[in-house]
Amino acid sequence: MNCALVTGGSRGIGRAICLKMAAMGYYVIINYKGNAAAAQETLDGVRAAGGNGALLQFDVGSETDVQQVLGAWLESNKDKQVEVLVNNAGIREDNLLFWMNSTQWHNVLNTSLNGFFYVTKQVLNGMLLKRYGRIINIVSLSGIKGLPGQTNYSAAKAGIIGATKALAQEVAKRGVTVNAVAPGYIKTDMTAELNEKELATLVPMNRFGTAEEVADAVGFFASKASSYVTGEVLSVNGGLYT
Ligand code: NDP
Repeated sequence: MNCALVTGGSRGIGRAICLKMAAMGYYVIINYKGNAAAAQETLDGVRAAGGNGALLQFDVGSETDVQQVLGAWLESNKDKQVEVLVNNAGIREDNLLFWMNSTQWHNVLNTSLNGFFYVTKQVLNGMLLKRYGRIINIVSLSGIKGLPGQTNYSAAKAGIIGATKALAQEVAKRGVTVNAVAPGYIKTDMTAELNEKELATLVPMNRFGTAEEVADAVGFFASKASSYVTGEVLSVNGGLYT
């Protein structure tokens, strides 16, 4: 059975991606960190749409957690092949660098950048053996242009963009593509406390995007329609160019 693993699939963009993967016919492995009820809602949505999947709780920023939980799952589900990996889990802890403490710096780098490494390490081998795979990393406008107050987050996302381009070249011959999607302002819990009315005026489309609009871009990279595209970063930002 072909699976799509979505990290941070319990809420926001990750949930929309899970539903998209289900619509594309994938068995969806929904990872989350702590919000079991929200993760269950995502699974209910996947099933209501005629799909199926499983919940897998682990902290992407903990190497032992990823090895023990995801590693064990892969080991005991040899009938299920992870064809699509979406590295979506991410957090932000904004502060001007002047005020930023090392916990804020390390938390953000650890979840996004180290999380990408730990999770991708677990599933890459299976893709290489199968000579097919789709890895999609959710980055950010912040990682392309840098945003003040987000040196940690910009660094983490820019780091993943570099890794996307490097890994794409490492695995291209084996039929595995690696791409990134860079959202601008998207309506989720992460942006809930931002002043949407004011910030939307900066966006040429004059509105925040939806999680589904990001999921559609992920769907393109996950599909066979993108077979000759790798190492790319696709912005989904309503024209908010850098
Ligand atoms: P939300 O805050 O709405 O959701 C975050 C998700 O990530 C939750 O499912 C959460 O799980 C999960 N998560 C957080 N930390 C971990 C962890 N250590 N291990 C496993 N799962 C974790 O975020 P968004 O949906 O807005 O963001 C999704 C991605 O998109 C992030 O990478 C973000 O940086 C990126 N992005 C978002 C933008 C926006 O405007 N919203 C803009 C640009 C990029 P749980 O529910 O268990 O807490």
